[in-house]
Amino acid sequence: MKKLEERMRIALGGILHDIGKFAQRAGEQVSAEWSEGKTQADFKYQHALHTWHFVQKYVPSDFQVGVLAAYHHAPQNAAQRLIRLADQLSAGERDSGATRDDSDRTIHPRQLHPIFTQVFADGQPHPFAGKDRFYFPLKPLTLLRDEKDEHQRPYIFPREEPLAADAAWAAYKEMWDAFCREAEQMKRLDELPAYVEAMQALLQRYAWCIPSAYFKSVPDISLYDHSRMTAALAVCLSDFDDAKIQALNHDWQTKGGASWSEPVALLVGGDISGVQDFIYTISSKGAAKALRGRSFYLQLLTEAVLRFVLRELALPYTNVIYSGGGHFFLLAPLSAKKELPKIQAAISRKLLAHHGTALYLALGSAEVPLSGFRAGEFTRYWDAMHKNLQEAKSRRYTELGAEMHTLVFAVSEDGGGDKHCAVCGADDVPLSQWKEEGDEWICSQCRSYVEDLGKKLPTSRYLHWRFGQAQDTPRGTFADALQAFGVQVRLLKTDEEADFQAGDALWALNDPEDGWPRGSAVAARWLRYAVNQIPVVKDAEEAEEINKRLSASERKESPAKPGVTKTFAHLQVQSGSGFERLGVVRLDVDNLGTVFKDGLGDKATLSRLSALSSQMSLFFEGWVKKIIAREGRDRLVYAVYAGGDDVFLIGPWDVMPDVALDIAKEFGEYTGHPGLHISGGMAFIGGKYPVYQAAEDAKDAEDLAKGRDGKNAFAFLNTAWRWDEFEKLKGNQETLRNLVQGTGEEGGSPKSLLMLLRSLAKMESEAAQGKKRPVWGRWMWMGAYHLTRAFERNKKKNPALAKALEDMRQEFEENNYKDLPQWGAAARWAQLKLRRKAKLDDGGKL
Ligand SMILES: [Zn+2]
Repeated sequence: MKKLEERMRIALGGILHDIGKFAQRAGEQVSAEWSEGKTQADFKYQHALHTWHFVQKYVPSDFQVGVLAAYHHAPQNAAQRLIRLADQLSAGERDSGATRDDSDRTIHPRQLHPIFTQVFADGQPHPFAGKDRFYFPLKPLTLLRDEKDEHQRPYIFPREEPLAADAAWAAYKEMWDAFCREAEQMKRLDELPAYVEAMQALLQRYAWCIPSAYFKSVPDISLYDHSRMTAALAVCLSDFDDAKIQALNHDWQTKGGASWSEPVALLVGGDISGVQDFIYTISSKGAAKALRGRSFYLQLLTEAVLRFVLRELALPYTNVIYSGGGHFFLLAPLSAKKELPKIQAAISRKLLAHHGTALYLALGSAEVPLSGFRAGEFTRYWDAMHKNLQEAKSRRYTELGAEMHTLVFAVSEDGGGDKHCAVCGADDVPLSQWKEEGDEWICSQCRSYVEDLGKKLPTSRYLHWRFGQAQDTPRGTFADALQAFGVQVRLLKTDEEADFQAGDALWALNDPEDGWPRGSAVAARWLRYAVNQIPVVKDAEEAEEINKRLSASERKESPAKPGVTKTFAHLQVQSGSGFERLGVVRLDVDNLGTVFKDGLGDKATLSRLSALSSQMSLFFEGWVKKIIAREGRDRLVYAVYAGGDDVFLIGPWDVMPDVALDIAKEFGEYTGHPGLHISGGMAFIGGKYPVYQAAEDAKDAEDLAKGRDGKNAFAFLNTAWRWDEFEKLKGNQETLRNLVQGTGEEGGSPKSLLMLLRSLAKMESEAAQGKKRPVWGRWMWMGAYHLTRAFERNKKKNPALAKALEDMRQEFEENNYKDLPQWGAAARWAQLKLRRKAKLDDGGKL
């Protein structure tokens, strides 16, 4: 464990090495008391003196980290030279000539550009590329909106204009003071590994928006990302002796030499396969209860395996580049390479024991040479690691060698029992009676996703992690599976009793607006937003409303009860019209693979790629949650999954197009990049439809959108609309609905306007089959004729409607009926929205 201790100390030195920059920009002065007579000359730069000062004042002296952290510009011994080299490799994006200091008090503190400003996507650069515009505000990480801002913009959204100098100084000061208060609380944490993660988590929350450098460089890497990557690299480089470090340093400066192309670190990736089937291949009965718990479990499992790998490799959490969405990437010393096969085999054994062959986690790796950290070079190794990961997936279980047959075939054999789990179908595991369902049998694992995760998730605010030794637990609940990787997890409500210990981690799934739970200062307090919304029946009134509309058998099977998760049948009858269906929406970022591979071009570095991952997922894990919760939609929208770069949502069909449109539009505002966009689609399904089929249908809709030239589209009612067209379609649908709603039936129903538009659009589309769009057809004179007649009919009794009809006719004629398909779809949409709810005078469904 000597090695682990030393690596932790190095990691802490790396994490803290530039903390002085934060202090400096907050206008801190160095006091003689804490600097022990040291002056700038001892450290070369003023920020390093500030770092020294901070460490003396706040970091437990037992860790002996001051000399490590502060001397990175004037190293005097091996460990200090290590941090210096790591700092330089981590900042591969900076011009080598740039002095890494910004002491000048006359330059106001700058703000961070989102990494999207550096990305070339869909054939175009960011509109503000190379311009001194578009900044994140200076505020600890939060999903709140700025109440003082005239547009009430969220803090995680960049703004076109920077803060005025005074406001920026003040914002830095406020953040620094809050940061120091938390650092003060952490002083009692006297265990080094626990302290390192807690400090990293603290930096995540405060330094996410602070640029690591801006003097002669683009401020696009946060102090948080730069610090953790410096720590990661320092840990990797600690495998080498001082002579080697000095040689590497020389070759880095001269961009050549013997070690220029020698490997210095190992990039490791982990990726779970089988995710789709694991989540969706469940019986439709009770699906709503099971789905979110299963999808959330995969997040927990990914983290548990990641922690297991870190533990096996004796690495601190700083070495994680990214984790989320069923995969993780980390940076390890070269010596890790020979350990990976053994670790891979151990993971496979554990997953086989708990999940059979349903889930597999592949590990892949690539060695990165010294030159790989130069801007533009890193992507090559990133790709190589991904390729290796793909290969690992294709030869799954070979790592088990001769053991493979016994292990894999043992689990895939039929259990032979006559009972099987009503949710996942397993028949080779102990089953128990499912209380709620009465006559059903369910395995304890499936039951735990429902009882211990799904049910608790909507009211939980925190996830409490505890890490220990991996154990050979037999298959049981999900907690037994996590225990196999040495991880325990508990969902906590706002102020639930919890005994926090040093070394625990706490994930706040929402902003901890009322402060962190009591006693949690000894844990690493992370913000790890998760879309944990599951619609729940609010009260007796809503329960009654739902039950009234359920069929007699549905009501008997799963009636709505206050405080209980809504089933898909419940959500379906909450559709706003008599057309009772669910809308299943899938969306993801277009061409994301290409964006990662080529988007950063000659600017690609380790830090920039990790910034791209984390800023992307901040939107999908964090902001999407806010979009769903808006206007009470969280009571209707079921988030099966939201993270990485994609979302999968289910809700009453009429609510979902608005949610999708909001996500696409706000993603555009968040990145500010017209070349970064989302595509997706919506499928209509019934509440009893099999979940895997719903997932497939939504995937087909998404594929339809992705098949459209340029993507950036949403498939709805069997057509892929560009988002701007879709917004217009929505507007037209509203116009039509307003026109025909509430108008009398006598003298020809105005609703016939909807029929007319649909039949004209149908004629047009049939004529257009297989040809270029015809410019002329009978729908033109028919349209003119019927719209004129309708105008005449309504002229006196409904002048407003008449005028709208006349305007529509004129518009059609002016542009040769070009927008007819749009109006046809709008009419269809309006019809579905206007369909009346069946009368329920017999108390049941008609
Ligand atoms: Zn099961």
